[in-house]
Amino acid sequence: MLALEDEWGAHNYHPLPVVVARAEGPWVFDIDGARYLDCLSAYSAVNQGHCHPRILQALREQAERVTLTSRAYRNDQLPLFCRELAELCGMQMVLPMNTGAEAVETAIKAARKWAYDCKGVESGRAEILVCENNFHGRTTTIVGFSSDADSRQGFGPFTPGFRAIPFGDVGALAAAITPNTCAFLVEPVQCEAGVLIPRAGYLAEAARICRERGVLLIADEIQTGLGRTGALFACQHEGVQPDVYVLGKALSGGFYPVSAVVSSRDVLGVFSPGTHGSTFGGNPLGCAVAREALRVLADENLVERAAVLGRWFLDQLRTLSHPDIVEIRGMGLIAGIELRVPARPFCERLQMLGMLCKETHDRVIRIAPPLVIEREELTWALDRLREAFAR
Ligand SMILES: *Cc1c(COP(=O)(O)O)cnc(C)c1O
Repeated sequence: MLALEDEWGAHNYHPLPVVVARAEGPWVFDIDGARYLDCLSAYSAVNQGHCHPRILQALREQAERVTLTSRAYRNDQLPLFCRELAELCGMQMVLPMNTGAEAVETAIKAARKWAYDCKGVESGRAEILVCENNFHGRTTTIVGFSSDADSRQGFGPFTPGFRAIPFGDVGALAAAITPNTCAFLVEPVQCEAGVLIPRAGYLAEAARICRERGVLLIADEIQTGLGRTGALFACQHEGVQPDVYVLGKALSGGFYPVSAVVSSRDVLGVFSPGTHGSTFGGNPLGCAVAREALRVLADENLVERAAVLGRWFLDQLRTLSHPDIVEIRGMGLIAGIELRVPARPFCERLQMLGMLCKETHDRVIRIAPPLVIEREELTWALDRLREAFAR
């Protein structure tokens, strides 16, 4: 299997050498039937747990009715999905897409058009502020404003109109805003960069600056949203309501690519027929799956679980001691163990012990299990971590 994939598939990932054949809840099973605790959750796309029976049922039922209409017609799932998601976000409108990167691209287009149509920025001059060490996806425009060399190098020329400022620095934000600045695009927690959590108050102050200066606050909650950090949205830890939410990943509970931009009528109202679209965006199968995925999140109290279990788990994690550990940080059910040394060998050791997690940025072990995980399973994970660090 490994050789087959390496021969026929492009090598744009460096996966752990485990071949998953089946999964259920927080557990995955390889082709030989060996069981592993999934502590990555497909980068938080399976917050509801693998193959959740209710989401599976919704998928089956919808797949038997109609899967794709394109937006050339209407379908009976899209309006319900839009209303339910907008209400959940305290917003007015939804623009559905498929992948996270597409939703980020959509937010960028919305912010630029808003700059010209509503803010009065001169045509072609709109600027968007982003943070250093950001991760917003892999399209050419998005990698163009990445500060990660591997993401960028060899893929230029890039889209102009972006400027990077240090993450967590409100002074830099205030200083970087010009009359042409239309938006500040930010992850409330920089998960891919190594679970970097800004100091308390940062997001609230950034939101205030954006509001005062007429700049849209775009929160990329593709990974932090929908319960992961112990709040429905990480912005809510700071009482912040952004102008735009960008969502994806757990929006479908891992069954189907569903992403969305959720915002006000002022912002999403800039799109008129023909200005933006996607063949699969808003398809009835994706919408039915996402609607059920959101109901599961609420019915199973997954946000509350992430908060309560996450607090306890982080306290336990902090009892790990090893000379290679630099820092342990986390929020809800996402934690990062920063090491002095490469994290990959630890992840491989953990795999051998039955626990799957993936290094991020070389020296951080990220731990982000499905939010349906039980306390005993987390205890089991802690024992495996102790074992891995004991060697
Ligand atoms: C995963 C992710 C994206 C990109 O989503 P894709 O579905 O992989 O395109 C964007 N932003 C953040 C914060 C992410 O975690």
